[in-house]
Amino acid sequence: MTTLPIVDLTTQYEILAAEIDAAVKGVFGSGHYIMGPNVAAFEREIAQYIGTPFAIAVNSGTDALHLALRSLGIGPGDEVITTPFTFAATSEAIGIVGATPVFVDIDPETYNLDPSKIEAAITRKTRAILPVHLYGRPAPMVPIMEIARKAQLFVVEDCAQAIGARVGGRQVGTFGDFGCFSFFPSKNLGCYGDGGLLTTASEDLAEQARMLRVHGSKIKYSHSSLGINSRLDEVQAAILRVKLRHLDGWNLARRAAASRYDVLLAEVPGVKIPTPDGDGQHSVFHQYTVRVDDRATVQSSLAKAQIQSMVYYPIPLHLQQVHADLGYTLGSMPHSERAAQEVLSLPIFPELSSADQVRVAIALQDALAILDPA
Ligand SMILES: *Cc1c(COP(=O)(O)O)cnc(C)c1O
Repeated sequence: MTTLPIVDLTTQYEILAAEIDAAVKGVFGSGHYIMGPNVAAFEREIAQYIGTPFAIAVNSGTDALHLALRSLGIGPGDEVITTPFTFAATSEAIGIVGATPVFVDIDPETYNLDPSKIEAAITRKTRAILPVHLYGRPAPMVPIMEIARKAQLFVVEDCAQAIGARVGGRQVGTFGDFGCFSFFPSKNLGCYGDGGLLTTASEDLAEQARMLRVHGSKIKYSHSSLGINSRLDEVQAAILRVKLRHLDGWNLARRAAASRYDVLLAEVPGVKIPTPDGDGQHSVFHQYTVRVDDRATVQSSLAKAQIQSMVYYPIPLHLQQVHADLGYTLGSMPHSERAAQEVLSLPIFPELSSADQVRVAIALQDALAILDPA
């Protein structure tokens, strides 16, 4: 028996090999390798897919976040409200521009920012709210946008795990001033290297972001502000164009796999399955994440049954050494801290078979039966 991985990228490649190989070969022979016709076409196609006027391809999701903040003029002395229960890049981007992350605890049912706690965190220095659509579940954008409008704050959405997720029929990345996406290989839409994207409805902001991604330059060799090199290359854009056509099907397959897990695991004592989508919410299950007690034991017994599982994320950002200067202590974000102790993500990817899901459910049941022999 081979190990069931948490995400299987090779099966998907094998299915698409002919299309992807042809696309990549086309680039090799074209003489255009960075920000050429494939990047331009990909920007048009993905803007249309997401339903946004402007899409700007960059080198990673992390760059997308940091260039969004830079484009909004956020920097030293400014505060940005975000969640501590996310990947490090979220608060890293805030730090890179010289601003200060201000953490607000999550809703333990959804793992996303709890909107009822945001207003208390707003100060005179607050410039933006940075919600994350964690695990592919859309953050509560309606109340977040309302709070931001009242307090005149920018909103930057971290959509790295949630491309295609919707709230009330509208895709994530179309609510805030910027949406920031990642095409890291294991994301729902992944390339074969690094890649990222900014979306915005503002022509001015789009122009600002486009300038910053190429050394702060609008006209070649004329530099009006301090930018970086965050160009996307043609090979990745060509791959993404092929894969974008399959994204909706893949996201539906992820949702179907999640529903199968829900049924299989509903009766397993000691496993808390994900809370169902709320009204108008459409999650895309970048992860299928359960909660268990004594997670380390469960995880090692899954490993013995040759099933990979992962913890996203074991240390909330407010307790990371990199943010020690902010002065947060254990107990300041109780829901995030508890989630960090209990969450366990199970294998999920579009090609996951129901037979393998049954295997996961049985292994989980066995793991918990050992822990709690009834
Ligand atoms: C992956 C990810 C990022 C960073 O994207 P990269 O392309 O790896 O730089 C940012 N935020 C979240 C929530 C992510 O999952």
